[in-house]
Amino acid sequence: MAENKPAGGEPKRPETPPELPGLGWRYIVWVIAISAFMYYYWSTTTDSGLHQSIAYSEFKARVRADAVTKVTLQGERVIGTYRAGAVPAQGNQTRSSTTFTTTLPPVNDPELIPLLEQHHVEIDNKPTEAPWWLQAIMALIPWLFFIALFFFISRRVSERFAQGGGLFGFSKSKARLYRKGTMQLSFDDVAGLDNAKADLREITAYLKSPERYRKLGAKIPRGILLMGPPGTGKTLLARAMAGEADVPFFSISGSEFVEMFVGVGAARVRDMFIDAKKSAPAIIFIDEIDSVGRARGTGLGGGHDEREQTLNQILNEMDGFSAHEAVVVLAATNRPDVLDPALLRPGRFDRKVVLDLPDKKARLAILKIHSREVPLAADVDLERLASLTVGFSGADLENLVNEAALLTGREEKSQVDMNTLMAARDKVVLGARRENVISEAEKKVIAYHESGHAVVASLLPHADPLDKVTIIPRGRALGATEQIPEEEHYNLQQSYLRDRIGVLLGGRTAERLVFGEVSSGAEDDLKQATRLAQHMITHWGMSERLGPVAFRRGEEHIFLGREMAQARDFSEHTAQIIDDEIRKLVKEVEQEVIQLLTAHRTQLDALATALLEKETLGASEIRQLVSG
Ligand code: ADP
Ligand code: MG
Ligand code: ZN
Repeated sequence: MAENKPAGGEPKRPETPPELPGLGWRYIVWVIAISAFMYYYWSTTTDSGLHQSIAYSEFKARVRADAVTKVTLQGERVIGTYRAGAVPAQGNQTRSSTTFTTTLPPVNDPELIPLLEQHHVEIDNKPTEAPWWLQAIMALIPWLFFIALFFFISRRVSERFAQGGGLFGFSKSKARLYRKGTMQLSFDDVAGLDNAKADLREITAYLKSPERYRKLGAKIPRGILLMGPPGTGKTLLARAMAGEADVPFFSISGSEFVEMFVGVGAARVRDMFIDAKKSAPAIIFIDEIDSVGRARGTGLGGGHDEREQTLNQILNEMDGFSAHEAVVVLAATNRPDVLDPALLRPGRFDRKVVLDLPDKKARLAILKIHSREVPLAADVDLERLASLTVGFSGADLENLVNEAALLTGREEKSQVDMNTLMAARDKVVLGARRENVISEAEKKVIAYHESGHAVVASLLPHADPLDKVTIIPRGRALGATEQIPEEEHYNLQQSYLRDRIGVLLGGRTAERLVFGEVSSGAEDDLKQATRLAQHMITHWGMSERLGPVAFRRGEEHIFLGREMAQARDFSEHTAQIIDDEIRKLVKEVEQEVIQLLTAHRTQLDALATALLEKETLGASEIRQLVSG
C-alpha cells in the first residue's frame, strides 16, 4: 500500500500573520498623498475653468494679429497662450488671463496649421484624455484606499484578539507551530535537569519510530507534566525540546485559551488537536496549564464556565487519541497542587517530571551559560558564586548575571568583576538598595534586631552559617541577616528546623531584651517561623501529642470558600490541638532564645555597636565579635 499524503496538505500556522504590504498608517498617508497629487496633475492639464474661453473665429483673428505665442492641441480643445503685453481686456471677465481655450470646429480646418506656422506660433500636442494607466489608477485608488483601510483595521482587531487567523479567525487555535530547524534552542542550552532531559529524550525517540515501541507492547505516555517552582526552566526545557524533536511542535500557553469570548477556549483546543493529529507524529505543549486546569467546581479565577469547558475539551481530546496516533501532550505548571485530579489520571498526564531548584553543580552550569556573552574579569570565581546562591532558580541566576552587567555598564567599566556579581546577588536576594532616611533611634533598634538574629545564628549548633549582617535597607527590608547553608538541604532534621525558628525569633527577642518592647519590624520573621512550625506539626509529624500523623490543612489552596472547607480533613477538636501545638513549639524555642541572648548580652551589644558604625559586617567579623 502506498502512503498517500497530499502535498502541502499539512496545516501550517506561521508564527505571525502574513505581512500585508503597505498597511500601516504611513502607507495610507502615502496612498492619499499620491492620489491627491495625480488628481491635481491630471486636472491642471485638462482643466478649462482656469482659462479664458473664446470663440474659434476670435482665436484665428488673434493669431493673425500676432497676439498668440503658443497653442496646445488636445483633441478638439485648444489651449493657447497670449504674447506678453497682448492680452486683450475682456468686458465681461474680471479676471485677466494669459491663457485661453477654444474649441476646434467638427470638420478639419485646413487653414489652421499653415496660419499658425506663418505667425510663428509654437504648436504642442497632448493626448485627449489622461493616459489609460493613469485612468486605471485613478479608478482604483478609492478602492485601494478602502481595501487598505479594511485590512488595517481587521489586522488591528485580530492582533488584539488572536495572533492567528484574520478578522474572523477567533476560534482558530493560537498554537505556534515550530518545525524542525525553526527553534534554535537545544538541550545544551539547559543546564542540569538531567532526569527531565532523559525523560523528554525518551519521548522524542518514541515519536521518531513509534512502530518499534508498539511492537514491544509498550504504552507510550499520552501526557507529560513538567512541574517545578517558577524559573526552574520548564518553559525553557519545552522550547529546547521543540528544537530537539524531529516532529512538529505546537506550543500554546494555558492563559491564551481563556483569553476571549466564551466558548472560544474549547474551540481552540479542538483546532489545535486537529492540527496536531493531522501532522502526527507531533508534540503539543501547553504552558501554565494550571490557568485552565484548576480543579473544577471551585468557582475561582473568574469566567470558570469558560475554563471548565476548555479543560473538558482537553480531557476529551486526550481520551480521543487512538492507539496509532503518535501525539504527545507536554504541559508545564508550578502549581500542581491546584490541578484538577482528572488531568492526572492514567491515560492523561500520567508521567510527571519534577524540575527542582538547581543544585550547586547545575547553578555553576547555568551561570556559565548565561555569562557566555559577558566579559568577565580575571577575579571572577563562578564556582564560589554558585555556592553562594543556594535557593536561586535558573531565572534568578540569569537575572543576577544581567544585573551585574547593567551595574558594570553604569560604572562605565569594561569587565564584570566579582564585587559587582556579589552586589548583583544582594540585589536579587534583597531588592534594590533604598536611600531612605532613618533616624538614629530607629537605626539602633534595627541594629539590635539584626544582631539578635546573628548572635542566635552563631550560637545555635544546627543553624546555617552566617554570611553577613547589614542594616542597609533594601527592598522591603530594613536590614538583613544572611545565612548560607554549606550544602543543599534535601531532608530537614527536627533540630535544624527548631534552630531555624530560633534564628527567626532572635531579632524580636533582642529588641525586647534591650528596649523592653518589640517593634513591627518582626512581621516577616514571625510569619516564617509560624509557617515552619505549622509544617513541622501538620506535615512532618513532629509533635509528640499529635503523633506521626499528617493533616491536610487548607493552606495549600490559597483560595477561600468551598475548597478550603473540603481540604481540611480533621475535626474541630484536632484543629484546636494543632493550634496549641504550634504555639507551644514556637514558645519553647523562644524561651531558649531568650536564655541564649541574656547569657550573651555582651556579644549582642558589641555586634550592634559595630553594625551601627559599619552598617555591614562580613562572616569573619561577626565570628570575631561573637567569640571574643
Ligand atoms: P519556568 O517556565 O519554569 O517558570 P523558564 O523556563 O521561563 O522558567 O525560565 C526562565 C529563564 O531562566 C529561562 O529563560 C532561562 O534563561 C533561565 N533558566 C532557568 N532554568 C535554566 C537552566 N536549567 N539552564 C539555563 N537557563 C535556565
Ligand atoms: Mg514558564
Ligand atoms: Zn528579622
